[in-house]
Amino acid sequence: MLELDVADGVHRLGHAYVNCYLVEGTSGDLTLVDAGLPGVWPMLGQALRALGRTPLDLRAVVLTHAHFDHVGVAGRVRERTGATVWAHPQETYLAAHPYRYAHENSRSLYPLRYPRSVPILVAMARAGALRVPGVRDTSRITPGTTLDVPGQPVVVFSAGHTFGHCALHLPDRDVLLTGDALVTLDPYTAATGPRTVAGAATADAPLALRSLDALAATGAHTLLPGHGEPWTDGAEAAADLARAAGPS
Ligand SMILES: [Zn+2]
Ligand SMILES: [Zn+2]
Repeated sequence: MLELDVADGVHRLGHAYVNCYLVEGTSGDLTLVDAGLPGVWPMLGQALRALGRTPLDLRAVVLTHAHFDHVGVAGRVRERTGATVWAHPQETYLAAHPYRYAHENSRSLYPLRYPRSVPILVAMARAGALRVPGVRDTSRITPGTTLDVPGQPVVVFSAGHTFGHCALHLPDRDVLLTGDALVTLDPYTAATGPRTVAGAATADAPLALRSLDALAATGAHTLLPGHGEPWTDGAEAAADLARAAGPS
């Protein structure tokens, strides 16, 4: 589902329970935050047309982290547009090998324990989750700095889900793109509301919970997660609820 203007100049591409976002810059250029699954490709074209833009307006792809469901079309976008693909250096290996990620708990047990997650995982598989090509030669983002790409996001280090996970803060729009550091739908349990992602896909759950402090500290009003609906009651409240939900 394509949702234009979920926040000022930010557009949500939601496909197979995975979100990526187009962020407008000041001169009509665009950044893609996360790259979904391969099946999001037609929606990306649809979004560009709806915004009256061409693929060449897409200047940057910034990965909050390099799990397969966030790397999907990154390489294809770069090939087609020449956009630079950015990620934290600790995500470089994962970006090239999107399936070799650390996780605390066995993935295969979750569909048995949480049967409501099965349709989600099936939809993800249909969208190409089992055949995501890696992307090499990513450019490095640096925590605490403003990245000079359309939208000028500030990089908020938020490790735990992966070891180089970074959220992206758009201070002028009061928006925080949280990636999978905080989601409102956990694909592995089907639970909704602000939370960290289950141990099936999280490398270090205690660290992920500690990193909620960094998200809360932005004070952002609107949170746009990698999975689930936007949250518009502020970062502190979302972080509180995620801490209360705890690991799963
Ligand atoms: Zn993830
Ligand atoms: Zn994800």
